Amino acid sequence: MKKLIIAIDGPSGVGKSTLSKVLSHELGYLNLDTGAMYRCVALAASRQGIDAGDYDALRQLCDEIVIEFARNKGEELVLLNGENVSAEIRSPEISLLTSAVAACPAVRQSMVARQRELGAGGGVVLEGRDIGTVVFPHADVKFFLKASAEVRGQRRFLELQAKGVAVDLARTVAEVEARDAADTNRTTSPLRQAADAVVIDTTELGIAQVMERMFSVIADHQQS
Ligand code: C5P
Repeated sequence: MKKLIIAIDGPSGVGKSTLSKVLSHELGYLNLDTGAMYRCVALAASRQGIDAGDYDALRQLCDEIVIEFARNKGEELVLLNGENVSAEIRSPEISLLTSAVAACPAVRQSMVARQRELGAGGGVVLEGRDIGTVVFPHADVKFFLKASAEVRGQRRFLELQAKGVAVDLARTVAEVEARDAADTNRTTSPLRQAADAVVIDTTELGIAQVMERMFSVIADHQQS
């Protein structure tokens, strides 16, 4: 069967991570969480005291850092220079800083090159903001997920709460909205829907319902 490149784009809290994990597992594909890569850049910048506006320092940082994905007992881990940073990159502070460093063209250039290298062979699900528009504009299948800001904020809130992070609902909704505004309004590779993407509104749909729709689209492409 054809090994596809599947792109899943959309704003935060829309269900991309959960869906791409399930999808890649079911298909036996590689799952590439591109947001985690930008989060690693933000964490490394924060640790080294690099300002999000210092594009030269960010460029150099990207040349130096090693970002890897690993698995441990079924859990997907994100490694920055060999250190497991899976939890640390998800804090609200790093989330906001990530949007800022992700606006730097040199950071995007470096991450996009890494993503293309990892995904070029196919058999991969990539989730992010610019996969179907910039990273793989010729991806075999493109999904664009959307949902209301309230629902996305609530999902993010529950996710953080489950991880033991002390969070406030109203603040989480505001942060999700701020991050989306930054991602949508940046000059380089803003969050936008590819013209040929299949759009799914997940506001009132459960994971199983969304998966069903995705699988039927994928099945059509596997046979073509
Ligand atoms: O998907 P996630 O919420 O982990 O992404 C964190 C941030 O990384 C996003 O808010 C966005 O600024 C950036 N990002 C990006 N392009 C991608 C994936 C993520 O700019 N392909």
